[in-house]
Amino acid sequence: MGLFGEKCVRCGKKTRLESSKGLPTCEECQAQLNAERETKRSCPVDGSVMNKDIVQNVVIDRCPSCRGIWLDAGELQLVKSAFEAGAGTDLADAMVRGMMT
Ligand SMILES: [Zn+2]
Ligand SMILES: [Zn+2]
Repeated sequence: MGLFGEKCVRCGKKTRLESSKGLPTCEECQAQLNAERETKRSCPVDGSVMNKDIVQNVVIDRCPSCRGIWLDAGELQLVKSAFEAGAGTDLADAMVRGMMT
């Protein structure tokens, strides 16, 4: 398909590319796009509108009030894959940092 070796249309980074609307888009930018496309959710605990956060290219919902982190079933699977791919420490770090800020 000729997608390999092309540059991401959003950040210009040369990487293994995914295709978004026919344009070469890297995984990071694709995750960003997914985050923008998803509807914001309300926290199941306190009803606050949660922020979209991207950790290891996985979109997570983070509540600004109670610091809760929420994942879809599919997102949980992606996080699990990231852990298995050796990104577990980064992911845990990012989540812990997020909870403390
Ligand atoms: Zn990109
Ligand atoms: Zn909350």
